[in-house]
Amino acid sequence: MTWHQQRQIGDVTVHSLTDGQFRLDGGAMFGSVPKTLWERVAPADDLNRIRLRTNPLLIRLNGENILVETGFWDQGGEKFEAIYGLERDETVFRGLDALGLRPEDIHLVINTHLHFDHAGRNVTLTGDPTFPNARYVVQRQELHDARHTHERNRASYLAAYIEPIADAGLFDVVDGEHELRPGLSVLPLPGHNLGQQGVVLRAGGQTLVYVADLIATLAHAPTAYIMGYDLYPVTTLETRKQYLGQWFEEGAVICTPHDPDVAFAQLQANPKGGFVLKGL
Ligand SMILES: [Zn+2]
Repeated sequence: MTWHQQRQIGDVTVHSLTDGQFRLDGGAMFGSVPKTLWERVAPADDLNRIRLRTNPLLIRLNGENILVETGFWDQGGEKFEAIYGLERDETVFRGLDALGLRPEDIHLVINTHLHFDHAGRNVTLTGDPTFPNARYVVQRQELHDARHTHERNRASYLAAYIEPIADAGLFDVVDGEHELRPGLSVLPLPGHNLGQQGVVLRAGGQTLVYVADLIATLAHAPTAYIMGYDLYPVTTLETRKQYLGQWFEEGAVICTPHDPDVAFAQLQANPKGGFVLKGL
């Protein structure tokens, strides 16, 4: 498996990494969309699960190495990994290594949100920060919600990869839209949960957006293809209506966190309304 791909956004190089494949129930991934429709774009296995990936991004901006997402929780044990059909055919560490980078070389980590399939590699097997020289950017709302879970979201968070980062004082907690570096911002994208943020990079007249679970895979681009996992599906709909038209107009490169096959994509107008995503 060679996933590694890169794109140029102005003078900024963006590398798509992957932390391997996993599987989730197709019905849960497509919410109210009938299986007869979604299985055309996302075939199910004999347990009704569809193939997904965890796809972090490395942005090389003005000499800094900025990592978006850290990877899939790696300390869940055999049963956990079987439930999620985890296959680490590639890892974020091997991806960094191929670029000549060690975890110590990462200057900034952006946690889009703190679910275990996005922030699970925030810490090492010994419980230490994986990227010891990095600040970890997270929304205040998300850090709060991860620490005050309820029955509907509890399975998505583990204190094991959150509290060591807080204890080490490495979280940079932000509220709402925030420019981290010239041309690089985080942007709240509520719906999947309240505290999710996307990442927007603008350089040389080009735009790249890491959309987080607002659009989990290319197959989720149609406006009403909303995950059953989303806590606030109507908010997901509103957030999509707020931004997709703008990103389409800008010709933005779109990176989804979980597409199993495509690293970089672009929105196209759907003749039936809304948008579809096509791989670049
Ligand atoms: Zn996710």
